[in-house]
Amino acid sequence: MMHISNSLRNHFPLLKKCPETVVYFDNASTTLKPISVINKMNELYTEYPVNVHRGAYRFAEQATRAFEDSRLAVQRFINARSTKEIVFTRGTTDSINLIASSYGRTFLKPGDEILLTQLEHHANIVPWRMLCDRIGSVIKVIPMKRDGELDLSNIKSLITNKTRLVGLVYVSNSLGTINPVAEIIEIAHARGAKVLVDAAQAIAHFPIDVQNLDVDFLCFSGHKMFGPFGIGVLYGKEHLLEGMPPHQGGGGMIQNVNFDEVSYAPLPSKFEAGTPPIASAVGLGEATNFINEIGFKFIQERENLLLSYTLERIKKINGLILYGESKERSAVFAFNLTGVHPHDVTAYLDQKGICIRSGHHCNQPIMTFYQIPAMNRASMSFYNTLEEIDYFIETLKETRKFFS
Ligand code: PLP
Repeated sequence: MMHISNSLRNHFPLLKKCPETVVYFDNASTTLKPISVINKMNELYTEYPVNVHRGAYRFAEQATRAFEDSRLAVQRFINARSTKEIVFTRGTTDSINLIASSYGRTFLKPGDEILLTQLEHHANIVPWRMLCDRIGSVIKVIPMKRDGELDLSNIKSLITNKTRLVGLVYVSNSLGTINPVAEIIEIAHARGAKVLVDAAQAIAHFPIDVQNLDVDFLCFSGHKMFGPFGIGVLYGKEHLLEGMPPHQGGGGMIQNVNFDEVSYAPLPSKFEAGTPPIASAVGLGEATNFINEIGFKFIQERENLLLSYTLERIKKINGLILYGESKERSAVFAFNLTGVHPHDVTAYLDQKGICIRSGHHCNQPIMTFYQIPAMNRASMSFYNTLEEIDYFIETLKETRKFFS
């Protein structure tokens, strides 16, 4: 059995500080941040805490280099062709909003269709609803099945010659379902539709190669991949980004400005108006280094072990309803305890040092499907342990007894 060494857990200050008392099972919400990422940001703030792309002095050059090195690290991490395809944003939500307001308002017309799935996070629904309300395009939905997989039986009729864009979550943040993204991209492309993949829950768990996937847009957040808050990425194929107008105007994104006319900076600056979140961007580059050092091979083996170990045990708990049993899935467990309000479950677990979430997890269409207002969710990362899972399972049994 694979054991995780303390030295690996010690990368994370929270786990190091409270090794016995904190079981962090809310990794789908945000992952913990390793000390190397914190130190990298600290280095920027202490040694070259200045703006990028502006000054010609030494510190400004250091900051700019660190910022652009980070973009290069991200490019390599997802195997993009060029750093021009890597736009820094505030996160997944910001990236999707950028596509909806720039690509959507420019290339979609009344009656055009946007195909989403029932598994989408609100971040990949609301910007499209707002766009449709504004320009008269139409949202269609790929339905889900009880086991949490997408029902792709009608996919070929759902993608019509009016479909301009398919918006698809790679891994469901509630149910852990891993969607057959490559297959859907191929079908969409055959009909001339572009595909946006929301990789918020995928990016920290397995390698993504954007060229191999042939995805048009990919969005993710730094804070869900051991990086800082306030930074995210929009990957877009260069020719698509090239054809899109900027969504925001300001400093840093222009070539020439006068009151009658403005010309824009080349990619990716065109989409990065104003002072960027410099330290967070630099921290994100460091987060990719961290993942590369741990290695996806180890991460995947480890998380698959946590997945099978938990599944085997959680299913045996009397009165526990598990939502989502997709064949391809990640270590995310959505459940309810019969007769116990999900918020009571999280509150009880919190008293025992276990951090999980309850609520709709920004997946109200999934709650509608199961006809429930809320569910509990435990989500794991490679640094979690089998001992933590044993303790979690025992505490869940205890919770049920306590409330019955
Ligand atoms: N998409 C998915 C699948 C998510 O899980 C999340 C966050 O939970 C988001 C989008 C939004 O990410 P952010 O809040 O970092 O923009």
